[in-house]
Amino acid sequence: MVKKIKDVVCRKKIAEKEAKEKTEHNKITYCFCSKGCKEKFLKEPEKYLKLKG
Ligand SMILES: [Zn+2]
Repeated sequence: MVKKIKDVVCRKKIAEKEAKEKTEHNKITYCFCSKGCKEKFLKEPEKYLKLKG
């Protein structure tokens, strides 16, 4: 079974192994579909984490 994770920036669901970029924030690992999404997240992590749901 492929584990799906959500890119919190573009809200796209991606398979964990498809994630191009990862970062850790508050001890949680976030995965992103692209470098661009990761950079946006790093600039304003709180903004994207608030949208979670
Ligand atoms: Zn993305």
